[in-house]
Amino acid sequence: LDTATIEIIGSEEEHVAHNYHPLPVVVARGEGAWVTDVEGKRYLDLLSAYSALNFGHGHPALIAAAQEQLTRLTLTSRAFHNDRLGVFAGALAEMCGKDLVLPMNTGAEAVETGIKVARAWCYRVKGIADGAAQIVVAHGNFHGRTTTIVGFSDDDTARDGFGPFTPGFVGVPFGDAAALEAAITESTAAVLIEPIQGEAGVIVPPEGYLRAVREICTKHNVLMIADEIQSGLGRVGETFACDREGVVPDVYLLGKALGGGILPLSAVVADRDVLGVIRPGEHGSTFGGNPLAAAVGLRVVEMLQSGEFQTRAKALGEHLEARLDALIGHGVTAVRVAGLWAGVDIDPAVGTGREVAEKLIARGVLVKDTHGQTIRIAPPLVIRATELDWAVEQLKVVLAG
Ligand code: PLP
Repeated sequence: LDTATIEIIGSEEEHVAHNYHPLPVVVARGEGAWVTDVEGKRYLDLLSAYSALNFGHGHPALIAAAQEQLTRLTLTSRAFHNDRLGVFAGALAEMCGKDLVLPMNTGAEAVETGIKVARAWCYRVKGIADGAAQIVVAHGNFHGRTTTIVGFSDDDTARDGFGPFTPGFVGVPFGDAAALEAAITESTAAVLIEPIQGEAGVIVPPEGYLRAVREICTKHNVLMIADEIQSGLGRVGETFACDREGVVPDVYLLGKALGGGILPLSAVVADRDVLGVIRPGEHGSTFGGNPLAAAVGLRVVEMLQSGEFQTRAKALGEHLEARLDALIGHGVTAVRVAGLWAGVDIDPAVGTGREVAEKLIARGVLVKDTHGQTIRIAPPLVIRATELDWAVEQLKVVLAG
């Protein structure tokens, strides 16, 4: 590391709260699937800001949409209308096959909004006594960092020291439809799941699980809420991970790539009979639905309409899977792939996920570890097959020690 890198990391460590433990690289520029650090060294980005950069760094169509809007109007608040929100919401709702959109900013806000909507629906439509609503969640979930959300996480690091927590959640094993159905009672408002668990290490449920969850929710008059914040918008080779099983949830939670990697933009998308339960004054956000985010979000939706990114993710994912599978038994114990998204479990004999990530950085590849032994691979969908091959070669070298 040269002095510029050391100084910048030092100033960050001195002045920024230590709620993250970043890998030691200081990024200064990005283009497509590549970033350049302050020393001029280039890296292939295999994280895409946790899938917020599905379209890569600085995609010209997204930059153009942002720039055009940036000089015209950036923020009105929802005290007034703006001329971008309705257009964006219409396009997004149509892509989801739903009636309404509730715009927020971060993923956690979309999840919180989904929880409020489910509870209000449970009292006002389903007719359950106020305060009794239950929401079924999955073990191993990651839905964000607010106090309510960490309260139903089973990750001790996320929870410990932050209670007391919000009641009204019950956890069941992920991928087990029978356990999920057994947890449903009269007062269940919703089932909230990631169709593929991202932070847990790209955990793909058994084939048929999402269809079974859909059927159970319909049978018991319970909302199916799909947190597609990390799995959605092209990543898995379909627009949504639920599409892999032909399932349409009652509520989509979207974020990350919805803002094109440019700004925070999240949304709850559902039909009128669900999202219509929220009345003026009951929920909101100063920045939610701002025209700058709406302009970028509209362009994101337009880019997904052609299906080009979904097709690319599917083809490149198959390409990557074949190469990662070949590493099993050679420093890798297991590989899980969905579209262009992979969880790679590192053999403890080779080292931790963090150690592998650090060695990959030295070889020009950015990845991030999760849960100790796993590294997650989620490149921008604009990456080339030859670049994936090169990255896997670097991983091979690191695994061989
Ligand atoms: N839901 C899922 C599935 C996520 O992966 C994340 C972030 O990683 C979130 C919600 C929270 O999003 P944010 O960090 O934008 O609040």
